[in-house]
Amino acid sequence: MTNTIHSSADGAIDQASEVLNQGGLVAVPTETVYGLAARSDIDNAVERIFTVKGRPSGHPLILHVAHADDVARYVDSIPHPAKILADHCWPGPLTLLLKKSNNVSHIVTGGRETVAIRVPANASTRLIIEKCGHAIAAPSANKFGRVSPTTAQHVEADLGSEIELIIDDGDCSIGVESTIIDLSSDRPQLLRPGGFPLEDLEAILGSSIDPPAGESRASGMLASHYAPRGSVVLAESIDQANDLLQQTPRSRILDHYANLPMYAASLYSQMRQADNDGIAVIIAVLPPQTGLGRAIGDRLNKASLA
Ligand code: AMP
Ligand code: MG
Repeated sequence: MTNTIHSSADGAIDQASEVLNQGGLVAVPTETVYGLAARSDIDNAVERIFTVKGRPSGHPLILHVAHADDVARYVDSIPHPAKILADHCWPGPLTLLLKKSNNVSHIVTGGRETVAIRVPANASTRLIIEKCGHAIAAPSANKFGRVSPTTAQHVEADLGSEIELIIDDGDCSIGVESTIIDLSSDRPQLLRPGGFPLEDLEAILGSSIDPPAGESRASGMLASHYAPRGSVVLAESIDQANDLLQQTPRSRILDHYANLPMYAASLYSQMRQADNDGIAVIIAVLPPQTGLGRAIGDRLNKASLA
């Protein structure tokens, strides 16, 4: 594949921002997963994200900005809890849902009056955004409903021939998508558990965050998502997983279940490897539902429903 360049290669940042400024699509590294980026103010570039991913147009995209100060341009106002979380958590794997300003098109928000926005931790990607001079819209760089990419090679395998450029910065350090908190109404609400643990956010805010409820607003809240080709079977313990392994031909237990950061960071690449190795049944030990375990459990549950 010829359209992948390393983030440290000469001119990589300039090349990426030029492609974006001309309305092209660039896969960019973040600490969560690789994103499929377009300049959020170029409508036909944003529309192409939906086409390339096969993503329904009602599923809004997350805006990525280079600095917390840049958020003001894209939102109607910044409520106090948003200011606190932005100060403590950005750059990092936290997305805030706020009322949008007129600078954000309805194509990005799927027709909603709210916008999801974050500052990613990857320094190269922040430089690319800074050079563009505008926020990028960037969902995960994979086909809709499938396993998210955590390496540039994953992106090449899924979308290589359909996009202009892939910026390679190695493995994503966190490996699961951002935590999404809705701050657009009276009480903070969790829309999707993710790379920023809920308990830490509650400690920073000094108040509780409501659990996800109501209509499915985030694609992370769809019943089936994040799915490999092999079927995913959940086990409550490693003993149960070992029993299943004995009983099931062409099965494999996902590794690192006892170390939450490593489990999260390797989850998607392990699922992809299992598919490549022709594994029919992926057995996953459910982690405790605290910290990163919530995001891992959420992704495993959704993958198991496919
Ligand atoms: P992805 O980019 O696939 O990780 O998903 C981004 C998530 O953010 C999706 O689940 C979206 O539905 C959610 N999201 C983005 N913008 C909004 C919005 N305005 N309202 C509700 N959810 C949103
Ligand atoms: Mg995704």
